[in-house]
Amino acid sequence: MITQFNKWKLHDLLPLPSWVHQSGKVTLLGDSCHAALPYLGQGAAGAFEDAACLGRMLRTSPSILTALYSFQQIRKPRSTVIQVKSRMHQEILHVEDGAFQVERDQKMAKDGEENPLFWGSLERRKWLFDYDAEVASNIENLSFIV
Ligand SMILES: Cc1cc2nc3c(=O)[nH]c(=O)nc-3n(C[C@H](O)[C@H](O)[C@H](O)COP(=O)(O)OP(=O)(O)OC[C@H]3O[C@@H](n4cnc5c(N)ncnc54)[C@H](O)[C@@H]3O)c2cc1C
Repeated sequence: MITQFNKWKLHDLLPLPSWVHQSGKVTLLGDSCHAALPYLGQGAAGAFEDAACLGRMLRTSPSILTALYSFQQIRKPRSTVIQVKSRMHQEILHVEDGAFQVERDQKMAKDGEENPLFWGSLERRKWLFDYDAEVASNIENLSFIV
């Protein structure tokens, strides 16, 4: 019955090779470097985690260059997993009715490794929701490659 509507495209990024500019003076954070489809509901959470980590690195590192590369080293692996898993959720959540969907639903009913949803296992839920960006940033003597 609706006569007017707006289409809102969902975009994501493939994982970038680097978030820090080669000058070592500027970094991306949040959606600008790890935009993900919204199927894990982690984009804003990730931007806040980035901010907490970057703040800590800027407070505690001997130089801006060290702070930015440490930030990238701590945050990029986790953000990359979330980007990739968010894309996978798009597929998992939009399966056509049929045999594959029935099998998916059976697997989704059980908590554990076999559950196709990322948060369908306790271990993965803990990884996703128990994360403390301040604690994760409390790593001494980080080594990084410029
Ligand atoms: C449908 C949908 C559902 C979502 N659900 C969830 C959810 O449940 N949980 C969750 O955690 N996340 C969710 N997200 C993701 C979340 O909204 C984003 O990941 C988050 O807003 C990213 O924050 P950001 O600060 O990195 O970027 P943004 O929020 O995009 O902020 C960037 C800002 O920069 C401004 N800007 C751009 N260019 C310029 C310029 N040249 N000069 C000055 N300003 C500029 C923009 O106007 C904007 O205000 C969802 C997203 C969508 C689309």
